[in-house]
Amino acid sequence: MRTKLIAGNWKMNNNVSDSLKLVNELNDLIKGEINAEILVCPPFTALYAVKQKLENSIIKLGAQNMHFESNGAFTGEISPIMLKDIGADFVIIGHSERRQYFNETDDLVNLKVKAALTNGIKPILCVGETLEQRERNMQEETVKNQLINGLKDIDDKNMNNVVVAYEPIWAIGTGRTATSIQANEMAYFIRDTIKDLYSLNISQNLLILYGGSVKGSNAKELMSQSDIDGALVGGASLKAGEFVSIIQNAMQ
Ligand code: PEP
Repeated sequence: MRTKLIAGNWKMNNNVSDSLKLVNELNDLIKGEINAEILVCPPFTALYAVKQKLENSIIKLGAQNMHFESNGAFTGEISPIMLKDIGADFVIIGHSERRQYFNETDDLVNLKVKAALTNGIKPILCVGETLEQRERNMQEETVKNQLINGLKDIDDKNMNNVVVAYEPIWAIGTGRTATSIQANEMAYFIRDTIKDLYSLNISQNLLILYGGSVKGSNAKELMSQSDIDGALVGGASLKAGEFVSIIQNAMQ
């Protein structure tokens, strides 16, 4: 039985005081028995401050990106060791915005996934097709290549700590959600690909998130699909009430 993971990607939003306000609201709202893992991924500048508010909270901390090297002359970059030091449990790797605006290739994504695992941080590997690729029915080929290349040289043991997020690019920040059937078909395809690359057991334990305009009103339908184990939420994670509504709907 896979425990659902609901992750909020705050992207380049929220200064430190906004972040503390949001995490305090979430701590107040998310109490008691929650049958899901909850994760927030603030911008780098707010990670440490947010972590201080999560000491007695069930909410986990994640970063939105990192460099693959441990340290050195990489001006402007943040290393996995630095993230581990401030208590990050997860890191988003290969988000489509990083691939699109910062030219992240599958090879770079692979280096980052491996570095996260080496440092005890769970990578959330993002995969997904463009609108053009979907229109040409290339979504499976695209995602399969992203998985094969992004997971290169990752062994069975480490694979147990990888999370995959299926995020069709045409559904991110657009208000256009994949239908639950489309999302589940791709989640199933991802699980099947992992079965071929690894084993049935690893594929059955793999957490597969859906991301792309998830909100309270569509979370129940999406999260009740057999192969979808949670959500990576962008815009709707910036409002405590909406994020909590997604969590509640996901658990039903
Ligand atoms: C995301 O950035 O990962 C995302 C899914 O964004 P949104 O929920 O805003 O579409």
